[in-house]
Amino acid sequence: MFLLLRTGCTPEERNNLLRGLEEIGISVQVSEGHHRTVIGIEGNEDRLRDMALDRFPGVEKVVPLATPHPLAARESNPAGTVVEVGPVRIGAGRPAVIAGPCSVEDADLFVAAAHAVKRAGADMLRGGAFKPRTSPYLFRGLGKRGLQILRETGDAVDLPVVTEAMDTRHTDLVAEYSDMVQVGSRNMQNYPLLEAVADTGLPVLLKRGRACTVTEWLCAAEYILNRGNAQVVLCERGLVSFDGAVRNLLDLSCVPLLKQLSHLPVVVDPSHGTGRCELVAPMARAAVAAGADGVMIEVHPDPVHALSDARQAILPEQLESLVPRLHAIHAVLGPAADTP
Ligand code: PEP
Ligand code: MN
Repeated sequence: MFLLLRTGCTPEERNNLLRGLEEIGISVQVSEGHHRTVIGIEGNEDRLRDMALDRFPGVEKVVPLATPHPLAARESNPAGTVVEVGPVRIGAGRPAVIAGPCSVEDADLFVAAAHAVKRAGADMLRGGAFKPRTSPYLFRGLGKRGLQILRETGDAVDLPVVTEAMDTRHTDLVAEYSDMVQVGSRNMQNYPLLEAVADTGLPVLLKRGRACTVTEWLCAAEYILNRGNAQVVLCERGLVSFDGAVRNLLDLSCVPLLKQLSHLPVVVDPSHGTGRCELVAPMARAAVAAGADGVMIEVHPDPVHALSDARQAILPEQLESLVPRLHAIHAVLGPAADTP
């Protein structure tokens, strides 16, 4: 990394700094400019970043060079990672469609929803059994019973399933019933949970924290990759914003940006990303046009009576008209869309 010294940094401050760095075993390379001095230092960048070297008098700025998320960085797998969930290959070109109700509410309803999304052309089935709800008095999912329904239904319609784990105590249970484990937006920075989910060995759907930067998100992915689990899919689901017109502000620019920064597949969730059913299909189409490797969409056969996220659920017939359009958009873009 580089240390940029203040204009007006005194020779005494400069010498103290060089001595201080030497004392802690850091080798330096000094570059004197007309107005400013830049000091190049080598060592473990993570450790150096943590040392607050800008607290030395005379230092104006610390400029890190190395990425804080080397395993998630594009350079570590330039060809791009393909995440396999059963027969579904996310990141291999064809956009994956993950669909289903927000929550597993009861067996009959879920089976009906699953058949409908299968007919509509979905590749994977979603449904929450452990639901993160803002109020504790709202429907919080069926827990283990929900997982059982999810598994049985997925098998019955022959679709791989994904569901959320919210608690380190439940990751093994969730892994027993699911083909992919979702880390929800509220838990993106729950580091013990990230490690426990990584340790299940299953592919992970890592949703972006609702107020998290792309760098924080990639660092969260790094926690999973660093644990030896390379099967991570990033899921953009919208950010908190000042504008109450939509539930969250869907950041589609992060899709091409992540294609440059990372080798991990990116999917987009326009359901939580907008919170409004009428905006879901247009934003799903835009996501694929932006280069997303898939979409995650909440679908409910009877949205008005849904126990969670009723406002954003689309009908199965709406999914059915959307899916071929997504594939058509991807086909028009061609293979260039799959590379940064
Ligand atoms: C969900 O997908 O059901 C969910 C709760 O999403 P998020 O974590 O993005 O709010
Ligand atoms: Mn939901």
